Amino acid sequence: MVLVPVAKLEQVCADTFARIGSTPEEALRVARSLIGANLTGHDSHGVIRVPRYVDWVKSGDITPNQTVAVLVDTPSLAVVDGRYGFGQTVAPEAVRIGVAKARDAGLSAVALRDAGHIGRIGEWAEMAAAEGLVSIHFVTASGSILVAPFGARERRLSTAPFCVGVPREGQEPVILDFATSIVAEGKVMVASQGGKKLPEGALIGPDGEFSTDPAMLYGPYEPEGPRDSTRGRGAIRAFGEHKGSGLAFMCEILGGSLTGAKATGPGRRFCNGMFSIYVDPKRVDPEQVFDADVTRYIAYFKSAEPAKGVDEVLTPGEPERRMREERTRNGVPLTEATWNSICAKAREVGAGVPAL
Ligand code: NAD
Repeated sequence: MVLVPVAKLEQVCADTFARIGSTPEEALRVARSLIGANLTGHDSHGVIRVPRYVDWVKSGDITPNQTVAVLVDTPSLAVVDGRYGFGQTVAPEAVRIGVAKARDAGLSAVALRDAGHIGRIGEWAEMAAAEGLVSIHFVTASGSILVAPFGARERRLSTAPFCVGVPREGQEPVILDFATSIVAEGKVMVASQGGKKLPEGALIGPDGEFSTDPAMLYGPYEPEGPRDSTRGRGAIRAFGEHKGSGLAFMCEILGGSLTGAKATGPGRRFCNGMFSIYVDPKRVDPEQVFDADVTRYIAYFKSAEPAKGVDEVLTPGEPERRMREERTRNGVPLTEATWNSICAKAREVGAGVPAL
């Protein structure tokens, strides 16, 4: 493992994106967003993705410096086309539109289609929460067929994340944010690079047996070589048995079919589609009991006696908050393979690599 200080990571990642056509602002935004995922402990959605993002720009799958096209615009609804721009550019644009409408109308919905990879969905819920809004997000990673539905051994779903954010006055928001697969694809990537091992039953093979071997998803791979999920014959399993699989299905329908990104399926170009709902709690609750009741409920929830082997009952978003404090202070731990693959890609595009 190497421990990379945030400033050095930012430097190499931002320089890399700037070399492939992003403005300095976008390059820094994409770098910070990826590092933000590492800081919250979601290494699967962090800088491990830099080589893949560079390849997407080179292949024309992502267009740097893109802005959204607004296709539908009513007082409470917008449909916006991300036009295959960097997700870290077009997703915050979509959130800003939703926030502005919810401020006016109390409630809004924004359908974002054809966005480049929008990373950690919690980042967008945090943005809305910082503006005092509750938000709910249904997402598809259209074209990325990775997950077997409940009862299946074949892939039919993307990792289709779901996220809810709740603002709190003068405190960090509550953020529930997860892939509807047992693990996000990036966690299989992390495991394949010598990082944290996969939990039991995370994958299912073509023979219907459960597995934790990343080669089930990627086929055989070299330590520093690319990971291609189209080469494996197995699948990640949907979480939560029939209930989680059902939520994943709805993420495909709302994040995909409803936004126009289209639910995942064969022969599709990768994009994220996100259907987001924004609610102003101050408009729903004129007596202003919301924030106090959230505070009361969090204390009640956390007061439950911990199960055997558990130190503390945590609310959604608490693990990420603690990790962010710790990693901002100490740096981001990366496996040698991940750091080497980032450095190799940086050198390939002529970016500087800082000494550690
Ligand atoms: P995960 O399994 O780590 O679950 C995270 C959620 O569970 C968080 O809300 C966290 O606060 C909560 N949590 C974790 N441990 C807890 C505990 N002990 N007690 C209480 N709550 C706890 O997340 P994941 O499914 O691996 O997803 C990782 C990231 O990947 C997410 O940010 C997600 O948005 C992102 N993702 C993005 C895409 C995309 O296409 N852009 C696709 C899939 C996933």
